[in-house]
Amino acid sequence: MDVATTNTTAKLIDPRDLLEVLRQHPLPAPFNLALYSEESGRSGLIKTIHTVCPPLSSECLCTEKCCQAWEENINHTLLTNQPVVATCPQGLLCLAIPLPDNQGLPDCLVGGGIFENASVPHSRNLTVDNKKPGSGKPGQAPQMISREEAQSLADEVFRTLPRLLEQKVQLFGLARTTQRLEAVQKLARDLSICPEAEQAVLIVSEALVVLFDLPKVLIVLQQNGQAMSVHSTLGLDPGTFRLDQIQLADHFNNISGHPETLSKEKLTTFFPGIKTESAQSFPLSANSSRLGAVILFDINLHSRDQALIELLTSRLASRLESLKTAEGHRQERQFSARLISMISDLSLIDNREELYRQILEMSSELLEASSGSLMLLNEVKGTLEISAAMGMTDSLARAMSVPFGEGIAGKVAKSGFPMLVTDIERDNRVAVKNRPRFKTKSFISLPLEANKKLLGVLNLADKSNGGHFTEADLNLIQTFTNHAVLMVSRAATLEKAGKFEHLSITDPLTGLYNRRFLEDRLQEEFSRSERQQQTFCLILADLDNFKIHNDVCGHLAGDNALKKVADLMRRTARDMDIVTRYGGEEFCLILPGTGKKESLFVGERIRRAIETEVFPGENLLPLGRLSISLGIATFPTDGTTANELIHAADLALYSAKKLGRNRLVLYEPTLEDQGLLKHQQ
Ligand code: GH3
Ligand code: MG
Ligand code: MG
Repeated sequence: MDVATTNTTAKLIDPRDLLEVLRQHPLPAPFNLALYSEESGRSGLIKTIHTVCPPLSSECLCTEKCCQAWEENINHTLLTNQPVVATCPQGLLCLAIPLPDNQGLPDCLVGGGIFENASVPHSRNLTVDNKKPGSGKPGQAPQMISREEAQSLADEVFRTLPRLLEQKVQLFGLARTTQRLEAVQKLARDLSICPEAEQAVLIVSEALVVLFDLPKVLIVLQQNGQAMSVHSTLGLDPGTFRLDQIQLADHFNNISGHPETLSKEKLTTFFPGIKTESAQSFPLSANSSRLGAVILFDINLHSRDQALIELLTSRLASRLESLKTAEGHRQERQFSARLISMISDLSLIDNREELYRQILEMSSELLEASSGSLMLLNEVKGTLEISAAMGMTDSLARAMSVPFGEGIAGKVAKSGFPMLVTDIERDNRVAVKNRPRFKTKSFISLPLEANKKLLGVLNLADKSNGGHFTEADLNLIQTFTNHAVLMVSRAATLEKAGKFEHLSITDPLTGLYNRRFLEDRLQEEFSRSERQQQTFCLILADLDNFKIHNDVCGHLAGDNALKKVADLMRRTARDMDIVTRYGGEEFCLILPGTGKKESLFVGERIRRAIETEVFPGENLLPLGRLSISLGIATFPTDGTTANELIHAADLALYSAKKLGRNRLVLYEPTLEDQGLLKHQQ
């Protein structure tokens, strides 16, 4: 056999297979068996002694002397390369059989747990642990053989070993590998159709425990930019240890992606409180992204099992990756639908203040941020002022403003570039102690620009799942705000248009609707009243002797008096009444759905309000006070067109003036005769 073949053979043999084959072999049947390697040192030796020769009762009988006896026995075997049998101070047989070297196997096979039949101390009622192999059947007396029998058994095993290794152990190993390979193949198929990450994790962790006979399996996952979390703890008590997410994430993000051994120190750093000696870690990574790790504690894997486990964990990683991608696509679709509905909701808002509030609310919803603010640039003061806020009181928000270029928001505004910070205390762009107002150390701050002009800054913080914001979050929020700011420009245009519209229908001196508006509104009132068969009234009102008022008090006082009269009219009329300045010192009111009688009340209230109001200089007027005369006409009795109705109200007003002013007259057809007179004058 050349060296290369020997090495290949050695790799094929798993010492555990040899032990398994020997246990099934009739030769060493009564003995407990274990393998010992000099490399494992004294602690390995003690572990081996305890495996083959467990304490015989609750009181531990193994003494330092026992260990010495074993040590001597094993040393002797290794020196002479011959099987050696000895008896320990407790009267138990110790078997040591050298294993052929160059097989990549431990140094020797040890056997124990059997009394030498000549030396059983009758005075002691010793019972052998019946559960251990080689200890005889439960309830039966402990087995005993003579030292000679033990020696010939050891010699026989020693002679048989090369043949066993060449045939049985290899066959056994091959059969076991084939069986595990088939199982892994089937599991891989199950994994490829597994619909959920948690289920995939369960399939793999159970397979590791059952198929590979592993004592403790831990699976940690890092999903979608979130912190690392434990997803499986088979064989471990999850209440006994914690997980240091930062240390673990740091470690996994900086390793090659190949399996590695984790020392006890590392394990206690990553999992404070865990009680294990060492672990083998299989990182879960796909397409260069780290998804987590499968960690197997207290094991010594044979390379062929290692390969199979690697295969299994890589299948788990690719399934997790494809589930993550599918979930990403699903979320993207959901996001686009939500984004479209948000933008269309925003398009219904026509005032900017409400728009800013909604933009902040929607942005927080999209990124699951539980606090944030929208700051607007005050160009005059050179500051950013909070226009909408979440997670702080309104009064605090209103009080907060930052100078352009200062603080985080100020810097973002100045640079025009967004800032994504995962840890405010570690990021050297900001490097400040996290303010207690914020729960997490991650935030996003981005400039809002419309038509290349800076509007302000949007700040979002405290992701509700406790994780940090990601590049994907930043991209998403930029897409959203790019659309949202267009709505801000639109609202600004609408607000301006609203102002123009307002200006074009109001009278600048009094703020009342003007004559143009009255004409339109009157037309509407005609068609509505006609349609609904309702009545409505029109009042024409004219200040008495106003020319004299102007002459004695001056034009400015006249203007002030007009404003005051307009206010009084607006306040005295009902909400549904429309008060307009008809021209000069004349006013016109539409009283929708109102009959003659009711209109008298409204008109009279107005008259009295003006009569009783104090106007500077009014005592100089002919009536001793500023007063108003009113004429009322009713649709449809007094007229069915705007001209007819205004004419009727005008005649009534004329009549009121004629009757001495400061009064109210209802139109009557008889007034038409006076009307003729009016025109003749
Ligand atoms: P009468 O009782 O018959 O209505 O007498 P009058 O003086 O009010 O009648 P007339 O229509 O002759 O005069 C209206 C005056 O109202 C003329 C004008 O000086 C004054 N006037 C009209 N518009 C304004 C205005 O916007 N500001 C001021 N200060 N005065 C106005
Ligand atoms: Mg007049
Ligand atoms: Mg007048």
